[in-house]
Amino acid sequence: MPRRNGSISKRPRRSQHESRPPAAAVDSGVKRRFQSRLLKWYREHGRDLPWRKTSDPYKILVSEVMLQQTQVDRVIPKYHEFLERYPTFQDLAEAPIEEVRKAWYPLGYNIRPYRLHSIACETVARYGGTLPNHQEELLSFKGIGRYTAGAIQSFAFNEDAPILDTNVIRVLHRVFAGTGNPKTQKRRLWALSEALIPKGKGYDFNQALMDFGAMVCTARDPYCLLCPMKDICKTYPFEPKRGG
Ligand code: SF4
Repeated sequence: MPRRNGSISKRPRRSQHESRPPAAAVDSGVKRRFQSRLLKWYREHGRDLPWRKTSDPYKILVSEVMLQQTQVDRVIPKYHEFLERYPTFQDLAEAPIEEVRKAWYPLGYNIRPYRLHSIACETVARYGGTLPNHQEELLSFKGIGRYTAGAIQSFAFNEDAPILDTNVIRVLHRVFAGTGNPKTQKRRLWALSEALIPKGKGYDFNQALMDFGAMVCTARDPYCLLCPMKDICKTYPFEPKRGG
């Protein structure tokens, strides 16, 4: 799976209300087609991943932190091993940080075990070992950014919370914008991600978006000819830039 963005280290300081992006304008017919086709594609092709078999916020958090900067096939064995060693926030919080750092090997990007350990300590100290489900409270943790908060809300608490990682940015930008630099359109893309979620289906929709970006609308060589979005996609047919 392509890299997730590094949202764990970029904690917005604004309140939930202040950080709300402008409403995204999407034609309602296009929106419905995108939603139904994406969910249908996910039912037929979605990946069978271990963190999709749980709603435990701790396990979801561990998977999300591991997936930042590391590909799915490398994360899976370490995810199982880590959870066997530290099955709860309490177990992780009580472990010496040096031991946790060693248990993280060979995933790399070694700031992550420190942040995860710190979140575990804070969860135990402030919330008795259970993560809260409100965005503002999640964002108050050092090490939880907007993407990670949205992932926890939708994957652990089944809420219709938006997410925006590398895959989602690419898919939404290609289908709904088609031009310009996606890096400068984050506010619009966050608004789109929120506006597109079908009511009550945030979990499946967000998982589907990430899988679609990893498996169909890939960074370098998307499968445009077979893509269910091609008649509504503003980038179809994708043409790779030459010489770069
Ligand atoms: S048509 Fe191509 S660029 Fe558009 S969403 Fe599908 S794979 Fe991505």
